[in-house]
Amino acid sequence: MIGLMQDQPISLIDILKHAARWHGSQKIVSRRIEDGRITSQTYRRTLKRTAQLANALSKFGITIGDRIATMAWNTHRHVEVWYATAGTGTVCHTINPRLFPTQIEFIVNHAEDRILFIDADLIGVLTPLLPNLKSLEAVIIMTDSSHMPNAPSTEVKWLCYEDLLAGQAEDFDWKSLSNDSAASSLCYTSGTTGNPKGVLYSHRSTLWHALASVQKDAMNVGSEDSVLVVVPMFHASSWGLAFSLPMVGAKMILPGAKMEGASLHELLETERATVSAAVPTIWNMLLSYLSDSGSNLTFLKEVVIGGSAVPRSMIKAFKQQFGVHVVQAWGVTETSPMGTMNRPLSLRPAAETLEEEFDRDVAQGRPPFGVDIKIVDDEGAALRWDGDSIGKLMVRGPWTARAYFGGAQSVLIDGWFDTGDVATIDEYGFMTITDRSKDIIKSGGEWISSVAIENLAVSDPSVELAACLGIEDAKWGERPLLLVKLVKNAKFNESALRRRLSKDVADWQLPDKIAIVDEIPLTATGKIDKRALRSQLDDIRGD
Ligand code: ADP
Repeated sequence: MIGLMQDQPISLIDILKHAARWHGSQKIVSRRIEDGRITSQTYRRTLKRTAQLANALSKFGITIGDRIATMAWNTHRHVEVWYATAGTGTVCHTINPRLFPTQIEFIVNHAEDRILFIDADLIGVLTPLLPNLKSLEAVIIMTDSSHMPNAPSTEVKWLCYEDLLAGQAEDFDWKSLSNDSAASSLCYTSGTTGNPKGVLYSHRSTLWHALASVQKDAMNVGSEDSVLVVVPMFHASSWGLAFSLPMVGAKMILPGAKMEGASLHELLETERATVSAAVPTIWNMLLSYLSDSGSNLTFLKEVVIGGSAVPRSMIKAFKQQFGVHVVQAWGVTETSPMGTMNRPLSLRPAAETLEEEFDRDVAQGRPPFGVDIKIVDDEGAALRWDGDSIGKLMVRGPWTARAYFGGAQSVLIDGWFDTGDVATIDEYGFMTITDRSKDIIKSGGEWISSVAIENLAVSDPSVELAACLGIEDAKWGERPLLLVKLVKNAKFNESALRRRLSKDVADWQLPDKIAIVDEIPLTATGKIDKRALRSQLDDIRGD
């Protein structure tokens, strides 16, 4: 028997339509790429411009399922492209401009992108690759005619975004879906192991994800919030915020290309942001800026931090110096990306001290409804939730991938996706990432968590970044080496750092050597690039 409810496959364009109708005068604020000025437009206006873009796109002869790429920062125009693709049944492929050029070339060709929307300041990344991008018919520069860069000498069409919109009708016959599992967007993982892999989201999976992420125990956002979306739209779809914020009518604040401390602080203050989301690297920059300039955070209540482990020192600095609560989030591109969030749980006895609360906040958290996780041993047997057993972290749910784009074969193991992370789960279901499986250090048959050591190391005021790597050892198999990048002009005291580490780390887990390095390379998504570090290891060890 079938239920008697209205059968309406929902398209992602419906989110913007809802925002325009019910939160029509709510704003999308964005920093212009052209001159860094802050501008804004309402959701109502955004829908009209999106319709203009959809009309313009239709003239390219696009068909359902065609891939349309973006290589762009977070701006109102990028939001328009997302919704115009959703509403025309095409698939929006977000490209991370920080990938290696060969990877960008690979993914554009693999996705067979027909049209590419690009911010003018990123043209330099694209032009050398153009002769090799065989499927590309048009490049649309997301700017107005007075800022159009010269066209390179290639056959590809070179068009101006605002010119394209001008004169188009402000409404559009939005494509309705017969099946909402139709593909909506495509995002490639950064490919730290081999070529990037395409995660192909659907309207339904993205909608589920957006609905789940706004709830109180997840992102906790509503129409009263103003949210600074620092996490790029090309990094796991800005953690779904470009969908979840219009869904609830929150103000969306987009930083454009400027993500250093002073610019972010200006937006946080002038736009009265209550919530923000970004990776730890960004917050490091903001915290340094705040301390150097003696500035404050007047309106910010919460920051959602994920993408890599959040140091306890960062959680503490936000709370004690600025009264801002840090909510840690964990996910992978393949989980759209929300997998777990760390929020208080009524079933767990309250923390007795603030310090205990900070200890708890270091965990990656619990899954919302729609995500299930488990940890397993090498044979695939589920491990206990005792906070000590370490195992491979597996995940499943309606917004978790089952296969990669171009490879129809399922990548699941008994219906579960292997995240590549290693974790513990405690008796209350709080999951803690101890490592990426390829980074975990095995010494004398026991595991050492590089994340735990890095986390403690950056609590030393002289340490800006820390990376812990396992190096081969004849007796123990592997031993930890700690590399630290110092805060500018800071004095480093190795014994003080060792004392700090030995408070929380067993003697045998302490790094054999601590070396100071000038730089710690980061990946395209702002994580410590251990692969690059390993290739430099010989130099470092030769010191
Ligand atoms: P990539 O950066 O390789 O493209 P993702 O962006 O999907 O891939 O990153 C996912 C990985 O980031 C996870 O597998 C995990 O190792 C790491 N990660 C994400 N959030 C956290 C977190 N809160 N704490 C620790 N690690 C995290």
